[in-house]
Amino acid sequence: MRRLLMHSPSAVAVLWIVGYLSLTLFPLLVLLLHPAPSGRGFWTEFSVALGFIGLAMMALQFILTARVNRIETSYGIDILLQFHRYTSLVAFFMVLVHPVILFIAQPETLQLLNFPQAPWRARMAVLGTLAFLAMVVTTIWRKPLKIPYEPWRASHTILAVVALGFGFAHALAVGNYLGLFWKAVLWGGIILISLWLIIYVRLIKPWLMTKKPYVVEEVLPQRGDVWTLALRPLGHEGFTFEPGQFAWLTLNITPLSMREHPFSMSSSADRADRIEFGIKAIGDFTKGIKDVQPGTRAYLDGPYGVFTTERYWDSAGFVLIAGGVGITPIFSILLTAAQRKDDRPFLLIYAASSWDDLTYQEELDALKEKLDLSIVYVLRKVHDDWAGDTGYVDQALLEKYIPLHRGSRHYFVCAAPVMMDAVERALFELKVPVTNVHMEHFDLA
Ligand SMILES: Cc1cc2nc3c(=O)[nH]c(=O)nc-3n(C[C@H](O)[C@H](O)[C@H](O)COP(=O)(O)OP(=O)(O)OC[C@H]3O[C@@H](n4cnc5c(N)ncnc54)[C@H](O)[C@@H]3O)c2cc1C
Repeated sequence: MRRLLMHSPSAVAVLWIVGYLSLTLFPLLVLLLHPAPSGRGFWTEFSVALGFIGLAMMALQFILTARVNRIETSYGIDILLQFHRYTSLVAFFMVLVHPVILFIAQPETLQLLNFPQAPWRARMAVLGTLAFLAMVVTTIWRKPLKIPYEPWRASHTILAVVALGFGFAHALAVGNYLGLFWKAVLWGGIILISLWLIIYVRLIKPWLMTKKPYVVEEVLPQRGDVWTLALRPLGHEGFTFEPGQFAWLTLNITPLSMREHPFSMSSSADRADRIEFGIKAIGDFTKGIKDVQPGTRAYLDGPYGVFTTERYWDSAGFVLIAGGVGITPIFSILLTAAQRKDDRPFLLIYAASSWDDLTYQEELDALKEKLDLSIVYVLRKVHDDWAGDTGYVDQALLEKYIPLHRGSRHYFVCAAPVMMDAVERALFELKVPVTNVHMEHFDLA
């Protein structure tokens, strides 16, 4: 069993799912133990069960987003966040359906919606549900509502705590199932663990990070409005990572603030004494990178991510597909492979707007001397003398370059969302096994 788990990330992933389902249902099963309220109809009991499952699922969201490395390495952060989004919607649905069924089964309970007159147990349910609703709306429509990422993230945390706190307080105040002391303690324990995880991630972990600071060694311009930010560990050995992974970076300010941003390491994984990031200037934080002074303190939380060739040591070779700044984790993969004298074939398909936007282009061409590396540049804006590929990375282009024996390679894709979707569809059409395709999304929220 241990052997199986060690060699099969999917077996570990299945175990986590079983764990998730058990954790969702266990608190409900405990409630069913003696003594349950008697004489209530099926629909009332059913609605209460939905409410409790919704509450347990809300509590579990705190584990999903706590950056628990072991869970994260089984799935990858984007799949985990996707799961978080979907299960939150399921929890929200249960929390909403819970009162609706009650209103239908016992119409007199509709009076509880009269907020000023309603007892506190009902008011808390309304407040918790409104907080949950605000969370769902601001998350799904964050971009159309033009809510900047940082305020959204802070409000998301506060609303989550409010929704869970009021939800639990409502269940306690109703008291039908949590009347017994030990049941209240068990549920209280679950809620406290969830809240503790928020405190750990937002306060304790950042405080621990201050014990291992980094210092900015240099900031170098690259093609494509990308800046290399090179960090050196200060008074410790730095961290080891797998090529393709990423870390959360906090600069200058205290790490107790919430201004941390995820970036893939772009340097070789075999150089812990100098960790580099390739950062494209697109917004508030990234546009300021060019002005960061050498000597500035930096803090890293990482490494995270499963977008790494190291997990596929038995692959016959790799196809790496990058768009724009999506080259950063792939550059690290290639640098590390060269340093480790990896003799397998690498095919890089790299799309950019123009020749001048091909970040690391000189370094990539130089790597051909050290690796069995073929590079296909795909440009959208070209001069007359350009003899290479133009346009977008589509099915026809991929068919021209990827090996005929599709399943012999693992495929790593990192680009803008539109390109990722198009490439994923094209690879599927070309019969590349889905288990051989790995995607890194830079756009998490
Ligand atoms: C796993 C991963 C690896 C990444 N690697 C790189 C890289 O190597 N090079 C690179 O240039 N970019 C990378 N990014 C993207 C980078 O994190 C964002 O471009 C950056 O955080 C934008 O911040 P901003 O304030 O400059 O821009 P804004 O205009 O504030 O934000 C632009 C978008 O970036 C995202 N974003 C902003 N702040 C955060 C944050 N604190 N945490 C998470 N997402 C945020 C949001 O989707 C937002 O809509 C990566 C993202 C992820 C998830």
